[in-house]
Amino acid sequence: MKVKDLYKKGKTVLSFEVFPPKATSPIETVYSTLEELCDLKPEFISVTYGAAGGAKSHCCEIASRIKNTHGIESVAHLTCIGSTSDDIKGVLNDLDENGIENVLALRGDIVPGQPQSGDFEHASDLTAFIKEYAPQFDICGACYPEVHIESGDEIEDILNLKKKVDAGASHLISQLFFDNSVYYSFLQRAKIAGINVPISAGIMPVVNKKQIEKMVSLCGASLPVKFSKMMQKYGDNAEAIRDAGIAYAVNQIVDLISSGVDGVHIYTMNNPYVARTIYNSIKNLL
Ligand code: FAD
Repeated sequence: MKVKDLYKKGKTVLSFEVFPPKATSPIETVYSTLEELCDLKPEFISVTYGAAGGAKSHCCEIASRIKNTHGIESVAHLTCIGSTSDDIKGVLNDLDENGIENVLALRGDIVPGQPQSGDFEHASDLTAFIKEYAPQFDICGACYPEVHIESGDEIEDILNLKKKVDAGASHLISQLFFDNSVYYSFLQRAKIAGINVPISAGIMPVVNKKQIEKMVSLCGASLPVKFSKMMQKYGDNAEAIRDAGIAYAVNQIVDLISSGVDGVHIYTMNNPYVARTIYNSIKNLL
């Protein structure tokens, strides 16, 4: 099934993100996590591609297992930086042979100091390429409520996002954020720019202090005072910060669903306990 059609049901689409184990770890290490996450029956699960050291080669296999073993729709992330069009064709062929119908088309992060090579400059180029070479795929794009770190300003950022949608992205998933008002402003900018595709809000539940510091430094998300207070008070107590982080994420999600957002995408960090606890708190709201 194409993920774009899941948004037509007229309710908030709940989805999860997982990442593959590192190339040095056996793929089986993620199987029990997948089983527990699929038991919660999200509308779809997306699988990262080479992010945070996860093996690129495992992405297709995991997306296939989610779909073909567990019967949950999957989305395979695909980055294009440094890739030739033949590399991308090879990945798309593999996904197609495994029955995957949905791709999140991404540029990928530029490594400072490394010369750029490959046939693609932006995610919009990859999106246009997939549309042409493999039109059977439904294509998702990434978006940034607090503006992508390389964009000059909000206007440049939203106009570039419009190019991605015009190239063929049928829906979008957002970068994580901790302040819902930032997200609502972004939705307004998107609307003004003529972006009318469904957008899922990316929510990252805090699991521990170290992880959140890393994520925030990477993506530049701003921290509301109440979030910083929580980190300060409970950051050194593993159980307390986990429980407070889950409560914070649930509060964000309740507000998002009440405000009628198209979807909520939970960055599960492969932690079924966190996903299940959040799910149990919001399942009656969906
Ligand atoms: P782009 O859309 O190409 O944007 C990058 C920059 O270029 C932006 O500043 C944008 O404004 C500008 N730009 C875009 N299009 C144009 C254009 N046509 N002309 C001029 N300027 C343009 N990384 C991974 O390595 N693996 C993953 O699995 C992964 N999953 C992700 C999932 C989500 C939901 C998100 C939000 C990010 C993910 N990332 C992943 C990180 C992503 O690769 C980085 O954020 C990367 O820096 C930008 O990717 P992009 O696809 O948004 O790029």
